[in-house]
Amino acid sequence: MARILITSAIPYINGIKHLGNLVGSQLPADLYARYNRARGNEVMFICATDEHGTPAELAAAKAGKPVEEYCKDMHAVQSELAEGFRLSFDHYGRSSSQRNHGLTQHFAGKLADAGLIEEIIETQIYSNTDGRFLPDRYIEGTCPNCGSEDARGDQCEVCTKQLDPTDLINPRSAISGSTDLEVRETKHLYLRQSTLRDQLDQWIDSKTDWPVLTTSIAKKWLHDGDGLRDRGITRDLDWGIPVKRGTEDWPGMEGKVFYVWFDAPIEYIAGTAEWADANGKTDADWERWWRTDKGAEDVKYVQFMGKDNVPFHTLSFPATIMGSGEPWKLVDYIKSFNYLNYDGGQFSTSKGRGVFMDQALSILPSDYWRWWLLSHVPESSDSEFTWDNFQTSVNKDLADVLGNFVSRITKFTRSKFGEEIPAGPAYGPAEQAVIDALQTRLSAYQTFMETMEIRKAANELRAIWTLGNEYLQDAAPWSKFKEDPEAAATSVRFALNLIPFYAVLSEPFIPDAADTMLTAMNAPSNWPTDAASALSALPAGHAFTVPDVMFAKITDDARDDMQARFAGKS
Ligand SMILES: [Zn+2]
Repeated sequence: MARILITSAIPYINGIKHLGNLVGSQLPADLYARYNRARGNEVMFICATDEHGTPAELAAAKAGKPVEEYCKDMHAVQSELAEGFRLSFDHYGRSSSQRNHGLTQHFAGKLADAGLIEEIIETQIYSNTDGRFLPDRYIEGTCPNCGSEDARGDQCEVCTKQLDPTDLINPRSAISGSTDLEVRETKHLYLRQSTLRDQLDQWIDSKTDWPVLTTSIAKKWLHDGDGLRDRGITRDLDWGIPVKRGTEDWPGMEGKVFYVWFDAPIEYIAGTAEWADANGKTDADWERWWRTDKGAEDVKYVQFMGKDNVPFHTLSFPATIMGSGEPWKLVDYIKSFNYLNYDGGQFSTSKGRGVFMDQALSILPSDYWRWWLLSHVPESSDSEFTWDNFQTSVNKDLADVLGNFVSRITKFTRSKFGEEIPAGPAYGPAEQAVIDALQTRLSAYQTFMETMEIRKAANELRAIWTLGNEYLQDAAPWSKFKEDPEAAATSVRFALNLIPFYAVLSEPFIPDAADTMLTAMNAPSNWPTDAASALSALPAGHAFTVPDVMFAKITDDARDDMQARFAGKS
């Protein structure tokens, strides 16, 4: 039994995520977690909300709530949506937890002990009207690069250039709109990442199995231009983790907090500690996943994320871990994704363009979305959601192939043989041919699931469903029944045994439908060791029930309505 630690990039707290966010980390991570559990591996699957930073404070102000209350409420909303999509996290934590406070302060202390933290006096913009510093998004103004008048202190959304607040022309406070601003000196902590460059370089070189997309991004950040730059890890804000050196106060840093990018990835560890707290476990129980001196040396750690998150996960977070000098677990494999576009453009929160997680669940069951998103996951390039493609995929793969197979054979059996599996003679050459084909597909499916080639895995699964339909068409027990009811019984027994086989293999993609199939067949969820024994698992006389319609087709009218509804305003 292998031990697999899985983390999904943690979604930011402000607002509900769209389907592109979902398929860019959480959903494929869930697929991998479910598959490994089904194979009998010990899995720890952690995600959390990313709650610090200025966007949370600004969103809370807009919602008229104190930021703590806003984050608590939004965490509950995001948790409920995660459950709706059947994301099987062992724990869905919060980066504002006391566990993350403690661990973030601990890492900062260790990094300081190792000489990797520098105190730097810098200039920041201070608002006299607001009585506070204005870091990042608290300041807006004209972009020096493209002239957009709504650039933020951290980035211009129009031209995507990364900015410092002092770069902005005609700056104003995002809180009050005040232009009564001045430049003041303030002290901040910097992580001396540049001194870890060679160590990071060697570590990345050792990852020969990583996709080129991942290593090339990391190498570019390590070597292009000035190379890896030291980064500020503190901010003049109220909301966040107070700056401490371990458990001690940090002289000169009173009233400051750690910058969100520093504490967010540490939440992967803290989230596992939160799991232990929530389940009556001990520190040893979570440390055996994260400390190679406390049992984690045999853990395989896999991270899932969008490509924009790769630099943080290949450089900054490993720098924190390596720099601590302590034996924390480093990532073994990074699965990164391109972007999902929406119907000829991009998802847009401000324009209400595209389908968001809450809307998706209000229209159709989660399995429909899971199947389309995972079978079209943007692996090797960006991919695009269109309503045509979604309708075709649901109607063909789920309704016509899988759903129809289950419905047709269970209803036919009930009408001719009653609600138990009929006997009939042993399987013949027709059944053996299907078993052989399924065995080949099963091996391929397992390989693709293990190597996280998700589209290829989906193709194998679809082909496995199709084999059953083709068998049923050829065997045609409904036409055989009158002349040779014994032969029809054998075909039926074989086809009914396919249902739990399908259920178990499909569960990582469509868990609700899998559950319906297993319940209807009164069958346990056992991963097949080989196709032959799996297809003889249910004996003659085994009772079953006919399930309700598993997948309703999407009509052309419904498709057109949904397309119009989510087109957004221009
Ligand atoms: Zn710009």
